[in-house]
Amino acid sequence: MVASNRLPVILKREADATWSVEPAAGGLVTAMEPAMRRRGGIWVGWSGSPEVGQRELERALGSELEERPYEMRAVGVEEVVHRRFYEGFSNQVLWPVLHGFPPSSATDSHDWESYRDVNRRFARVLARVAGPTDLLWVHDYHLMLVAEELRALGMEGRIAFFLHTPFPRLPELKKAPHHQALVRGLLSYDLVGFQTPRHESNFLEAVDAIGVRAVEGNRWAPPEAPPARRRGRSGHFPISIDFDEFAKGAESPRVLDRSTRLLRELDGRALILGVDRLDYTKGLPEKLHGFNRALRRFPELRGNVVLRQLVVPSREAVPAYAETKARIEALVSEINRQWGGEAWTPVDYRYERWEREELLAHYRIADAALVTPVNDGMNLVAKEFCAANAGSGVLILSAFAGAAGDLGHSALLVDPGDGEGLAHAIGTACAMPRAERTSRMTTARRSVRHRDVHRWVSGFLEAGGRVGAPQ
Ligand code: UDP
Repeated sequence: MVASNRLPVILKREADATWSVEPAAGGLVTAMEPAMRRRGGIWVGWSGSPEVGQRELERALGSELEERPYEMRAVGVEEVVHRRFYEGFSNQVLWPVLHGFPPSSATDSHDWESYRDVNRRFARVLARVAGPTDLLWVHDYHLMLVAEELRALGMEGRIAFFLHTPFPRLPELKKAPHHQALVRGLLSYDLVGFQTPRHESNFLEAVDAIGVRAVEGNRWAPPEAPPARRRGRSGHFPISIDFDEFAKGAESPRVLDRSTRLLRELDGRALILGVDRLDYTKGLPEKLHGFNRALRRFPELRGNVVLRQLVVPSREAVPAYAETKARIEALVSEINRQWGGEAWTPVDYRYERWEREELLAHYRIADAALVTPVNDGMNLVAKEFCAANAGSGVLILSAFAGAAGDLGHSALLVDPGDGEGLAHAIGTACAMPRAERTSRMTTARRSVRHRDVHRWVSGFLEAGGRVGAPQ
């Protein structure tokens, strides 16, 4: 049984009062949907529209719901509660703090209450549908307190949690109000999974700091159970992608056709690709500063490379996102004014969402990908680029992306805050001999193929299946 903030579908109310249904996007859905299709189960989440509960979901999806190999349960939440839970506590407090930034708004106790409230509602829905032997797999920072709420309802079965974001060091964590309650809440899970060993050890440091004495290595006695009854544990499980889907997709006739047209449009120029959701954690201004420096430092790049930067709209209702967008757009204009002319635009900026085929065609033909988050749980774009690339693209990757764990040897690793280092990496990538590019990309592809998303799911479920029993 899976619970995540969002269901894999988004319901929208049309002008004629009917519902339209779209597939949801994003890393979590991309990773979990194929697994749920393969294994079946129940997916509990929010439908994307305020106050839409199970009845509306069933009405909107009709027979499509029955044809799916897994079931869905919608958690209805009133608009104001959802706004405080999602835009408020989740995205203005938790998201920045987990990524090492200060909270982006003054704390509002209503936001925290709404966070607890929504977690409780998820717990109630799960408690209704879960059988005693089911393994409940709860995802991400929106739902840290679900296990605690479920235990309060008397649930004794196995509950596991995976955090898709980073987990910060203690001084950063302490900037979140109620951080102790959040850490304590996580201890009600039988298994708490992180993307990297570093995030896991930061969490264990926080557990120690709230005075939970039973920690031995990565195990603890949950607060509400007698220690002899059960032990919780943490682990690290780096998420990945469906390698074959991206590799085969990039060879499809439509993608090949689009790639040919893209190459023609580029007219011999090298393509440096950036694909990021609009977010201040993605290091977009840092990337643009680095590219600007590279153009200054390496005159041979001028007129010969294009940075095509896709920025996918995201969380536009949160003020910090609008500010980030304005900053990015000012920098793009400045670079293009400084270096560009009629014949050449150095930064080809797109603020939109691409269809999968458009994305694959770009991954396929890009000479380099610039993935420079200041902090990122994993970054699936880095892995998708490797899986779909035709074989000699260079990955320039932030050392602060979880993906650096798997791809650190084959990528050019950078600190996005070091503009000079970033410029140097761009110069190095553009001048790299073909044999070295191919050899690096071959290693990267092998690593992504070997540790793909199916292995991630089975690794997590295997660990989840072993927990919760008396030890
Ligand atoms: N993506 C998408 N549409 C786009 C561009 C990207 O669906 O127009 C997908 C991309 O394929 C990837 C995900 O969005 O699977 C981004 O995941 P990532 O881990 O890189 O970052 P996140 O947005 O989850 O922070």
